[in-house]
Amino acid sequence: MLTYEREREELIDKLSEKGITDIYVLKAMGNVERHKFVPKAMRHHAYKDIALPIGFGQTISQPYTVAYMTQALRLRKKSKILEIGTGSGYQAAILEKMGMDVFSIERNMDLYLKTRKLLDEMGLRIHTKCGDGTIGWEEFAPYDGIIVTAGSPTVPVSLKKQLAVGGRLVIPVGDKQSQILKVITKMENDNFNIEDVPEFSFVPLIGREGWNQK
Ligand code: SAM
Repeated sequence: MLTYEREREELIDKLSEKGITDIYVLKAMGNVERHKFVPKAMRHHAYKDIALPIGFGQTISQPYTVAYMTQALRLRKKSKILEIGTGSGYQAAILEKMGMDVFSIERNMDLYLKTRKLLDEMGLRIHTKCGDGTIGWEEFAPYDGIIVTAGSPTVPVSLKKQLAVGGRLVIPVGDKQSQILKVITKMENDNFNIEDVPEFSFVPLIGREGWNQK
């Protein structure tokens, strides 16, 4: 059985060259087998630094994007993280391997069921639900970090509300073609510090506080 270890090492080298410095992120990405999160026909492309189709009209994000967004959360201790857009489950697996308590929401039921089965088979302890992630997951709030893996027209108010003080929300915001990645830190008294990183491209975040469904 192919383990793709060498390909994974080469990908980690590439991510370092592209400026990813967080050792915990690089270590987790060196441990998680991305080829298990993509369709069999795509496995030989799994360690290229590209997004890949995962069926249901969705994609697994480019490894560099996963690394950049995870690094932007600046995680140093066990924290409670909410992910919007479970997709293949790869990003959630990276966070779990970093020792985080992960909650992840996917709106597409077929994709949700397929990924839930995979996460169970891989023994990954990740809390998932099928629903509209634009309104967050109130029951377990506040979160130390929230990561949105689809592009949104605006920053959903519910997600800002469900962030803990000192926590970070990483979210691509823009039109349907390209987005600016926003790294939003919640300060005391409902103040927010916002850093912008230009030029990322994501599939649309569809929901009550996202894009309308066509
Ligand atoms: N994080 C994923 C991974 O590691 O494979 C990549 C996800 S893909 C780029 C974005 C996902 O967001 C899609 O699976 C899509 O169905 C989902 N999505 C879009 N709008 C959503 C919403 N309002 N709530 C939850 N998921 C949503």
